Amino acid sequence: MAKTAELSRVCVDGRRLYRSLAELARVGAYRDEATALRGVNRLALTEADGRGRRLVVGWFRRAGLHVAVDRIGNVYARREGAEPALAPVLFGSHIDSVPTAGAFDGCLGVLGALEVVRTLGENRIRTRRPLVIGFFTEEEGCRFGTDMLGSAVATGRIPLAKAYALRDRAGLAVVDELRKIGFLGPRDVRAVRPHAYVECHIEQGPILRRRGAEIGVVSGVQAISWREVLFEGRAAHAGTTPMDLRADAGLAAARLMVEVRRLAESDGRGAGLRGTVGSLRLEPNMVNVVGGRATCTVDLRHPSDARLAGAERRLDSFLRRLGRQDGVGVTWRQTARTPYVPFDERVQAAVARAADRLGLRAEAIVSGAGHDAQEWSRLCKTAMIFVPGEYDGISHNPRELSTPKQCADGANVLLEVVRELAEEP
Ligand SMILES: [Zn+2]
Repeated sequence: MAKTAELSRVCVDGRRLYRSLAELARVGAYRDEATALRGVNRLALTEADGRGRRLVVGWFRRAGLHVAVDRIGNVYARREGAEPALAPVLFGSHIDSVPTAGAFDGCLGVLGALEVVRTLGENRIRTRRPLVIGFFTEEEGCRFGTDMLGSAVATGRIPLAKAYALRDRAGLAVVDELRKIGFLGPRDVRAVRPHAYVECHIEQGPILRRRGAEIGVVSGVQAISWREVLFEGRAAHAGTTPMDLRADAGLAAARLMVEVRRLAESDGRGAGLRGTVGSLRLEPNMVNVVGGRATCTVDLRHPSDARLAGAERRLDSFLRRLGRQDGVGVTWRQTARTPYVPFDERVQAAVARAADRLGLRAEAIVSGAGHDAQEWSRLCKTAMIFVPGEYDGISHNPRELSTPKQCADGANVLLEVVRELAEEP
């Protein structure tokens, strides 16, 4: 067995990887009206997700992997190592999608991992540690309301019973939907104890392209704060109620929207505060009635926990002032809060070295979105590899596109990093 520094150079088959991505994208394909393109809709645990899972599992088996399914439907495909008792290197992502997806989000991490294993097989390369490819249930959170569900259960953040009881809008429960598509597996959800976890993923943003970088070395996932804010005013006649006697909940919501934008802009450009009011519900929502109630959400994100907390405090005092100014009741509750998740510096360094050996320009980047990797980082050393996307990295949209070269670059870096980690004692 070669030493880490002397690993023989092999490369993935980029065309085969791209063909696999295209073939998986045909499962759950639909005609997207907004873009006039073919999109992908493989919402978690639907019939389409079941078909996509069976296609990928078939590919795993043909590549000689041993496939196991756990009780939350996570799929693990194992390639034996020279020392089977050592903890495996785990790498993968997800194949469920939002309802308006492209072909790359999550799938690149899973099919890139498959391509790594195919390449090792063809070149008769045996690693010291076992390799395990994983794909995880309901990463998107679109159907059952909790993102990274499968990896959160596997790493112990969410109890299995709680995950089973989650329901979609039609009232269907996770456990029943798992059974229906044939992926309610027998394996213990805590069975895999990895030596390290690596995930290759599209960036889903414009930064790498704009900096002319070919590979992103992901340093961590930014902190996220979600709130739901309720304004209670007084519904009243639009014609007979003088302006100074109104308690207009809609006006207060509008002021909040403007303030969130102002807060974000005052934090500077680039990797500063991101602020979004993405949902607004007015009641009674009529042309001739002053808004009596307004419910809206605030999504704040920052790479610094301290500065995110600072933004939350400024928002709190703004909301208290708003109540006095507009004569409306203001209440809010925190609906989600995750701290900044830093990735392991040794694995980041391995990603940077691999890119360097392959002659690819790499840049450090903070992930703006959540990923399975942040869950696994609680159990083992973890990092991510980003590849850029066209059209400013648009994602969760059928226009999502990374080129064959961008995808192959990501898979080649993944191959190098996984080989290096798999030789570690
Ligand atoms: Zn994803």
